[in-house]
Amino acid sequence: MDADLLALQRGVHRIALPTPMVASVNCYLIVDRPLTLVDSGLNWGGTLDALERALRQLGFALEEIDLVLLTHEHVDHIGLAEAVARRAGADVACHERLAGWLGELPGSLEADDAWTAARIAAHGAPPLVVAAFEARMEMMRMLGSRPRPSVVLREGEELRLRDRTLRATLRPGHSPTDTVFADRGHDLQFTGDHLMPEARTTPYLVPGPAGGWRDDLAPARRLRESLGKTAIEAPTGLGLPGHGRPFTDVAAHAREQLDAQRRRALRLLDALDATPRTLFELVRRTHSELSPARTFLGMLELLARLELLLDEGLVEAHEDERGCRFSRPAA
Ligand SMILES: [Zn+2]
Repeated sequence: MDADLLALQRGVHRIALPTPMVASVNCYLIVDRPLTLVDSGLNWGGTLDALERALRQLGFALEEIDLVLLTHEHVDHIGLAEAVARRAGADVACHERLAGWLGELPGSLEADDAWTAARIAAHGAPPLVVAAFEARMEMMRMLGSRPRPSVVLREGEELRLRDRTLRATLRPGHSPTDTVFADRGHDLQFTGDHLMPEARTTPYLVPGPAGGWRDDLAPARRLRESLGKTAIEAPTGLGLPGHGRPFTDVAAHAREQLDAQRRRALRLLDALDATPRTLFELVRRTHSELSPARTFLGMLELLARLELLLDEGLVEAHEDERGCRFSRPAA
């Protein structure tokens, strides 16, 4: 059976909302008490209209929403949450780690973006690519908002609705605040951007304590660990992702993502030899078709592959005042 229909049978409607950057972002209406919206779409022109229209088609008014539940910090998921909560008088619920992050906005976001721009430059990106990244992030910041959570969930805590409970578990890697919500009674799990079989999960850079390339690899390592946990711990069968269609067998898809990541990592070895190369030079070899605006995403993808190869001793990293380079170890 179609996975959207399976979700519907379990009281969950998927609403795909438009965005200017990616094809669409999912929010989900849980028909329960409180009436709950999982994620919100971007704070962007037609998104609120599209959400209202979709709700009306399902027989609900925006004002009826009682609770907005958030999966992670990225603006395509939290952007409209503040407006929806205000219009509907709804509560906002999220994991305590996301609540902490939201409490530091907007200064934290600008500082993170400036840090990331400097790291992209350290990985050899020319000024045009760095400027394209900065422009993209400035646009993203404008499409965000600052929802104020009134329900803060600790790790493993269950959010009780009338007919179900949703257990909040961190699965960081795509961002530091990725949270999955498992509803065991209905055999489903909101996986956010942690696991979405139709759209590859990118580990975004975040500042860390280790310094240099070690920090840059940390999100990819966390994503790999998180997928490993989902592969063995996923208690539920139906996955409801942040982008793309729902899917059955969450654990099997987590394993498949790990396998695919490994296959892609091994393919990267073809682009590497004993000559140290920057991440930007490598991305030109493997993703020569990328526009300046998307080169940054290709660099993140390669970092995730390098993390795995470095972990297995197949690649060496070198960093000095000229920047960071990667090579195959001399035989
Ligand atoms: Zn997303």
